[in-house]
Amino acid sequence: MTDWARVQDRLAKIDFLASPTLLGLDFDGTLSEIVDSPEKAVLSPGIRRLLRVLIRRPDIKVAVLSGRALEDIKKRVGLPGVYYAGNHGLQIDGPGLRWTHPHAGELDAASWRSLVEDLKAIPGAIVENKGLGMAVHYRKVPKRYIRRLEDRVRNRFAGLRGKFRVLRGKKTYDIRSSVPWDKGHAFDAIRNQLPDGWMGVFIGDDRTDEEGFRTLGPRALTIRVGRVNASRAQYIFSDRKHVERLLKFLAARSSPPREA
Ligand SMILES: [Mg+2]
Repeated sequence: MTDWARVQDRLAKIDFLASPTLLGLDFDGTLSEIVDSPEKAVLSPGIRRLLRVLIRRPDIKVAVLSGRALEDIKKRVGLPGVYYAGNHGLQIDGPGLRWTHPHAGELDAASWRSLVEDLKAIPGAIVENKGLGMAVHYRKVPKRYIRRLEDRVRNRFAGLRGKFRVLRGKKTYDIRSSVPWDKGHAFDAIRNQLPDGWMGVFIGDDRTDEEGFRTLGPRALTIRVGRVNASRAQYIFSDRKHVERLLKFLAARSSPPREA
């Protein structure tokens, strides 16, 4: 059985067919293709069209959960009626919900400037200030500089351990608040806004999404996108095209079970 067939099988079970569904989607690498600079990532017209169809359905709610800053992810997707979670879930904005984690420490501009200074001599490194965190993108950094880059990032934040932590994602170091909160918690917070009985689906492609899979456990159908050997998600999509198939499947689901 292919990964898609397995998930389709699960979705065809009566509990899923008969329940309204909160669909949680990561952005980079899940909804959009990974590109060489993060500022170039966009939704394909096909995915955008499908999301529009899903948003109009009373039995589906869409949440986009990203490591990007909230305003960035909102602008990039730009669809109304969607729940957006930025900074790995530390900030949420959606219908009837606007929230920032009360203990998510803001990184001050000085630490951002220091890191920019530290990495100035490393060609291709991009330091992104996300307010509640930072990201260092190194997709364009030549291999021989990677070690130096990692050392400098870790050294810079060694003194802030306890307040911030450094996590590695796809060609990215994420400097995140160390509060125990991830996309899974944000997903739960969004679902708590909805009436009882909403099923959950959460899809992500990165190591940083693994925390969300773990947090959600059996409370949602979880899917990791990518060629990975192991994941805490219940299913793996080795190919991103299955994400589009899943969106199509939900968009075409017959008879909305009940009004939300
Ligand atoms: Mg991703």
